Amino acid sequence: MKQVRIAASSFLNSRPLLHGLGRGPAKERIVIEHAPPSECARRLAEGEADVGLLPLAAIAQYGLYALPVGCVSSGGPVESVILVGETPIDAWKTVILDRSSRTSVVLTRILLDARGKKDLRFEVRDPEEAARLVGPDRGALLIGDAALAWADRFPVRYDLAEMWASWTGLPMVFALWAVREPEVDPLVLADLQEALECGKGALEQIALAHAVEVGAPDPAPFVRYLTQSLSFDLGHRERQGISVYLAKAHALGLLPPEITFAAPAPQRALRRTSIDAILARGAEGKRISADEATLLMEKAPLADLGAAADERRRALHPDGKVTYIVERNINYTNVCTTACRFCAFFRAPGRPGGYTLSWEEIEKKLEVLAAAGGVQVLLQGGINPDLRIGYYEELIRFIKDRGFRLNGFSPEEVVCLAELEGMSIEQVLRRLVDAGLDSLPGGGAEILVDRVRSRIARKKAKSAVWLEVMRTAHRLGLRSSATMMYGVGETLYERALHLTKLRDLQDETGGFTAYICWPYQDGGLKLRGDSQGAGEYLRMLAVSRLFLDNVENLQASWPTMGPAVGQAGLHFGANDFGQVMFEENVVSAAGSIFSMDAASIERHIRDAGFVPVRRDGLYRLLEAA
Ligand code: SF4
Repeated sequence: MKQVRIAASSFLNSRPLLHGLGRGPAKERIVIEHAPPSECARRLAEGEADVGLLPLAAIAQYGLYALPVGCVSSGGPVESVILVGETPIDAWKTVILDRSSRTSVVLTRILLDARGKKDLRFEVRDPEEAARLVGPDRGALLIGDAALAWADRFPVRYDLAEMWASWTGLPMVFALWAVREPEVDPLVLADLQEALECGKGALEQIALAHAVEVGAPDPAPFVRYLTQSLSFDLGHRERQGISVYLAKAHALGLLPPEITFAAPAPQRALRRTSIDAILARGAEGKRISADEATLLMEKAPLADLGAAADERRRALHPDGKVTYIVERNINYTNVCTTACRFCAFFRAPGRPGGYTLSWEEIEKKLEVLAAAGGVQVLLQGGINPDLRIGYYEELIRFIKDRGFRLNGFSPEEVVCLAELEGMSIEQVLRRLVDAGLDSLPGGGAEILVDRVRSRIARKKAKSAVWLEVMRTAHRLGLRSSATMMYGVGETLYERALHLTKLRDLQDETGGFTAYICWPYQDGGLKLRGDSQGAGEYLRMLAVSRLFLDNVENLQASWPTMGPAVGQAGLHFGANDFGQVMFEENVVSAAGSIFSMDAASIERHIRDAGFVPVRRDGLYRLLEAA
């Protein structure tokens, strides 16, 4: 039997996660090698270990995959991550950092920055030297057992987890299990889970053993440390703590903005929850997990999936109405610097075929829209470095002056405009809102997992950035749609992760009006997708309906899948038939795209057994057709 090599520190705070691994059947399968946390990260990243108990920062830094089983966290004073000094922080000019945990080093930088200490010098030393160098204008970061042992030597102490918790209201997660690959052997997960339960049941015993080991006469501080200061379960709040920490570290340029969790590898025999039970829960609008959604995508019979999604749709939209909108897509420019590998629409700046529509051309398109009874314009374009914010403001006013609602600019466009103008995302959005922008389309989400996004286009905004644009837009009162383009080399679990991120943001803001998914259109471009047929689409649509329990409207993507599959989609969770298609240039440049006018849309809706109704951009009914 191949043994699993586990790298973990021997710090007291790690022991509850390791305790059970030395017992029972896991003992035969697992070899534990102790090393300082940063060395554990290197070993895992370079293939010298199979699983590591690693600092959160190291997982982000190395792009490793976290395991959804246990962590070392604290929701208040932790005692083992402290800044020490002879004087208060305000007198410090230098902070000596203990190199043994990057997570705590980054946390120190975040907290000091938040306190306005922006001009501090940082030096990295070994723990003993760090403690020795403390002086009137020099503080030091102490971590782990060194902090527990030496804290009393210093008159001034700051507990970083306590500072973090009182500032953010969230626990600070210091360490998690991690692996190198996006999938993990379920047996390993089961061993770690069992070890966690075993360790949580033996906290006092572990603390007493540690006291004996280090010759401490009083074990009480160690017992308090494990039973009161630390927590070992990885729940929703810990995951939130991780996200906020990474976002703040990223804003200081210290870490990538997020980590990804690994999924259990295909031997799904270990699963205990039955597909029927998950489907029943989803149909009732009860929350299902990313892992359960993955199982549905992979194994649920298509008919059962459709029935559950249809039940959920009927509960939300019992009147049998299916909506659509008369909207015109205007791709105002095809000049783009992002160069997505799936996109045949764009032209790099200066290359032949690049265009930016003239005002006359836009006017003509609007006249056609007005004649067709259109109510909304969808503006999307390439990332054109020649177009500055003044152009966008003029474009918005031009369209708004002609009486249309304006749904415009995907997060990618907003981010690039912010970079071009040296403005924040919020400043750009405020300018666009002041000019008249009504809502944001959800384009460019593709799959909100950075491993996949960097495969699509190296320059594409990271997932956290896409989500941050939406978060900011929602906060400013703009509504938006949410999208998924699948089939670009992601795992099924990564699709579920994408949905999880959308659902989490919807929980937070409630700003998504609708969701639409479609497969990558393989038009012979550089990005090879999996073959994406109608069955796969209906499966994805139905799972989305069950998983996105907080998104009311789901669109059927007939422009990419064809009218017949669009009609079927109305029985697999969709309640909206999208928009009248005047023109589409981005998806159609890469493959086939279907087109329908209002009469044809209504006929297809009726033929599918529903009542067609026009809507506006906020999904308000305009008239019974
Ligand atoms: S999909 Fe959009 S961002 Fe990507 S290359 Fe095409 S126009 Fe540019």
